[in-house]
Amino acid sequence: MKNFSVQTRSRTDFVKIDHQVAELIADEGIAEGVVTVFIPHTTAGVTINENADPDVTADMELVLDRVVPWEGGYRHLEGNTAAHVKASMVGSSVQVIVSGGKLMLGTWQSLYFCEFDGPRTRQVWVKGIAEG
Ligand code: ZN
Repeated sequence: MKNFSVQTRSRTDFVKIDHQVAELIADEGIAEGVVTVFIPHTTAGVTINENADPDVTADMELVLDRVVPWEGGYRHLEGNTAAHVKASMVGSSVQVIVSGGKLMLGTWQSLYFCEFDGPRTRQVWVKGIAEG
């Protein structure tokens, strides 16, 4: 397993991590296979979505805040229940096919680290499995 850290800049932040993941796959020498990207946190997650228009991630933040407001009469005393719920909504891991040594993402897709209780320094765990 490999890992790298991500410094987030605000309470909610979507940080592109394609480059770091691709670099680790190259370091591992994986040409054909699959890579799992796992986020070992309870108030952050990972998703794949549009990389061209930054308004898409801005709108994702807007929608998530609408569905799960920060203040909501929650029970969890730490006060960050909304971040926990959003982390479960986006999920803790994604898998991407690796072919020809490259991440097989669609033209408009990127991997996004999703921060919901930042700013913080976070970890991303990456495990590539070579085919055959
Ligand atoms: Zn908490």
